[in-house]
This record gives sequence, C-alpha cells and structure tokens, in this order.
Amino acid sequence: MNCIAGASALAFGTNHMSLHALNPSAIQPRRKTVTVFVGGVPVGSGHPIVVQSMTNTDTANAEATAQQVAALAAAGSQLVRITVNNEDAAAAVPEIAARLADLGCAVPLIGDFHYNGHLLLARFTDCARILAKYRINPGNVGTKRRDENFQTIVRIAADNGKPVRIGVNWGSLDQDLLTQMMDANALAADPADARDVYIEAMLASALRSAELAEATGLGHDRIIISAKVSAVQDLLDVYRRLAERCDFPLHLGLTEAGLGSKGIIASTAALSILLAEGIGDTIRVSLTPRPGGDRTEEVQVAQQILQSLGLRSFAPQVSACPGCGRTTSTFFQQMAEDIQGYLREQMPAWRALYPGVEDMRVAVMGCVVNGPGESKHADIGISLPGTFEDPVAPVYVDGKLAVTLRGDNIVPEFLRLLEDYVERRYSRSVSAAGARA
Ligand code: SF4
Repeated sequence: MNCIAGASALAFGTNHMSLHALNPSAIQPRRKTVTVFVGGVPVGSGHPIVVQSMTNTDTANAEATAQQVAALAAAGSQLVRITVNNEDAAAAVPEIAARLADLGCAVPLIGDFHYNGHLLLARFTDCARILAKYRINPGNVGTKRRDENFQTIVRIAADNGKPVRIGVNWGSLDQDLLTQMMDANALAADPADARDVYIEAMLASALRSAELAEATGLGHDRIIISAKVSAVQDLLDVYRRLAERCDFPLHLGLTEAGLGSKGIIASTAALSILLAEGIGDTIRVSLTPRPGGDRTEEVQVAQQILQSLGLRSFAPQVSACPGCGRTTSTFFQQMAEDIQGYLREQMPAWRALYPGVEDMRVAVMGCVVNGPGESKHADIGISLPGTFEDPVAPVYVDGKLAVTLRGDNIVPEFLRLLEDYVERRYSRSVSAAGARA
C-alpha cells in the first residue's frame, strides 16, 4: 500500500495548501459573470461559489418542508429549492416561510416550476412575492403557448424584482427545437453527429430563453443558467460551450447523479473538472437518497468538493490514512470518524467564536511509517501505534511534537488538546490581537 496515495484517497479532505504549493495554476480563475442576487445571496464570479440544495418533502406539507429546509440550511446550504408543483404547494409557501422565520432560518427559498408555473405564480401572489427566485424549465412551459407562458413567468419575476434560473434539462428538452435542429442538421452538407446536435439544442434552448427573458423586461443581472445532463462527459461539453457564449452565472449540477457512491463520484468528477476550469458559480449535488437517508448529505458533498479544490473552506479537514497490514486495529479509523463528526457538530458554534477555524487541518494516522510526517504537516495531528509498535501516540501541534499520549483515554485527551488548540489559535481576541500586532 502506498500510504501517501492512500491517505489522500481516504482523507476526509485533501491538504489544499500543499496542492497549491505544488501547482498554483491547477485552478483557473473564475470565468467573468454578472452578479445575480438571490435574496441576499450574490451569485457570480465576484463572489464565493454558492452551495444550494433541494428538498424532497411534499411542499404542501409546510411543517415537514420547513423542517427539511432548516436542516439543509443548518448544514450549510445557502439557497434551498422547493418544488411548487400544484396549488396546494403554492398555497403552502407563505406558511413555510413563516415557520422558517420562527426557526430563525432566513435562507432564500427558490421555487421549482414545471408545466403550470405561469398559472400558479399569477394566482398565488404571496408565493410569487416570497420566493427569492423562480426556476423555469423552457422544455416544460407548454407546447403551443410555450413562449407566452414563459413570458408570463418572466413578467411576474420582473414585477416582483426576482431573478430566474433558466434550467434546461436533457430529459425534458424542448422537442420542437430539437426536431428543427435535427432536421436542419440532416440537410447540412457535413452533418454533425446526433450528440453534438443534442448539446447544441440544449444551449440554444437556454440562450434563446435568456434572450426572450431580457426582451420581456427582465434585467440581464436577473438570469442564471443551467443545462443539466446525466453523463459526466456530456456535462463537460455542455458547460464549456455555455461558458464561452454568455456571461450569465452558471448553476452546475449533474442531473440524476444516482445513488450512494456512484452519485457522489460522478458529481465530484464532473463538477471538479469544470470548477477547476473556472466554470460554475453555484452548485447542487443531486443525490438519490436511500430510504430514510439524510438529505443533508448533498450539502456536505457539495461543500467537500469546493473545499477539496481549495475554492472555499467550510469545516476543518481530517486526513486519515487508509490503514494496511501494519495496523490490524480499526481504532484509528473509528477515531478519525469520531473526530470528523465532533468537528462537524462544533462548527455552527465555532464559526462565530473562532474565525478561520474552517481552515484547520487535523491528521489521524495509523502507524509510525507516515504518521509523524503527515501529523507534522497538519495543524494538529496524532500518530497512533501500529501492530507491534510501542503503545504510544505522539501528538504534533504546528509541526512540533507536543505530547505523547498513552493508555485507554487517547481519544478524549486528544479532543481536549484539539479544543485547547482551537481556542488558543482562533479565538476572536487572539485574531484581533494578531491583527493589531
Ligand atoms: S497504517 Fe501506517 S503504513 Fe499503513 S497506511 Fe496507515 S500510515 Fe501508512
């Protein structure tokens, strides 16, 4: 086992400082866009990449939806989308907003509309007023009266001072437009392949819709675009072309990413490549939850993608080695997981108390081979004893051996050292003193 490679692969986060040190040009500058405000959240190249998510509750159930929105927001989702699919859902939006206010949650709510958005937004004026953005799928606004319905939604957005996301989707592409473009391609002297025409039809749907929105009265800085597909290579092609052809902020996401590790890995692969090229201003990771699964997982994955790329910091990162035959115990893996969980629990309070703590790096290593080395590179790290090694666990703080732990209480003792370190290094008074010095 190459434990350096293994450590990176299993690490809860990579050491972005060292990545940058090795290749500072690995991440391209952000593609320039206008800024679109969604509620109070700015989306665009002049601002940090925004993490968003979507509920899977029945929106008409205001209590369940408000609870899930609040949980997603607490996990770090800066925008939360809810489906507004029928009259009951539209009527529930004011109550959802009121319940969120009672919970002290001010996250902007986005309404997801298909087929009947023009009717719902016209009839439920409080819903139109409360939502911070409307998502319109140009493939799902009708057939004969597509443009008229689209323009109705856009006018309501303009009247209410709201932005829209023009969200094209591979699975619900405007079929008339696709047919026209396929027919024209068939008559061309040198026809493109069908995949290429499909991609061009997605782009045409998004960009023509944006033009129509502006012609209808919506400001250029009120439009965000997405064009989602379910295959990674197609997504790269779509977004690279889209990025070249407009300056609207882009919402990245792989649609129908899938269950469990497949969904996480496919989303990470696709989004990481685009983000590293400077493409993408807001991201959503669409995971299919297991029955009873935790919806906030999609927020954690989105944050982890951004933090692993060194684009944003959300929570301290724990590096753990993958383990090998040198340590037959699973103690250190459990310890790494416990510490990661502990850090996640502390973050809501720590974020306010200890500015900068989200950049902290913690190492939990399984034996002496790489343990001390990796621990020295972390802000605070512990190297546990492997099989046949002395039962001691050296702890390194800021690269220096600070103390050696022994016995059965290594985990609580290490957590105490960690807490002391956080307080000493990140407390506001220390930061303020540092700033004054
Ligand atoms: S137990 Fe030791 S040798 Fe094995 S992966 Fe962890 S640090 Fe590397």
